[in-house]
Amino acid sequence: MPEVKVMFTREEVGRAVERLATDIRRDYRGKNPLLVGILKGSFVLLADLVRSLNIPLELDFAKLSSYGCATETSGKVRVLYRLTTPVKGRHVIVIEDIIDTGLTVSCFLEALRRRKPASLKLCALLEKPARRRTPITIDYLGFSVPDKFIVGYGLDCDEKYRYLPDVCYLEEVCGAP
Ligand code: 5GP
Repeated sequence: MPEVKVMFTREEVGRAVERLATDIRRDYRGKNPLLVGILKGSFVLLADLVRSLNIPLELDFAKLSSYGCATETSGKVRVLYRLTTPVKGRHVIVIEDIIDTGLTVSCFLEALRRRKPASLKLCALLEKPARRRTPITIDYLGFSVPDKFIVGYGLDCDEKYRYLPDVCYLEEVCGAP
């Protein structure tokens, strides 16, 4: 069993979410933004963020294929669940748990862009800059993290650990030989 270690405590994560909310509120007040949460990992961030934002907004979700507990992304992105809200003319903010290679979210952003939103931005709690394989602008970012496998605060490994209130990492990735 891999060892679970705390990277950011719930208090540190809470302060980061407050900071993200302050920035987003400043930019979107009166614009009724559409927040699109990428399932499943962003559900805790999204729940905390919308309550911190405390401005009128709308929500939708999308589910993209992810690589579960494997260590590498396939580079091929499948949309498993599409948002149902029309995005044309809307101020859209995509909410991601973590940007790793960036391949998954960049494909999704490209697809959204073709649907002509009024604006399109990306918010992520975490990013791993060392692993980026495509240039991507993260407009609202919580933390940059080293190349570790992150769990907790909504992020899983084989559906485990999502419930952990802190952002943690696994000392050894499950499934590794
Ligand atoms: P990317 O396309 O940027 O390589 O992968 C993005 C997706 O892979 C994330 O939305 C997340 O689902 C998953 N992912 C990437 N790194 C991690 C990690 O360290 N921990 C977990 N739990 N998922 C990750």
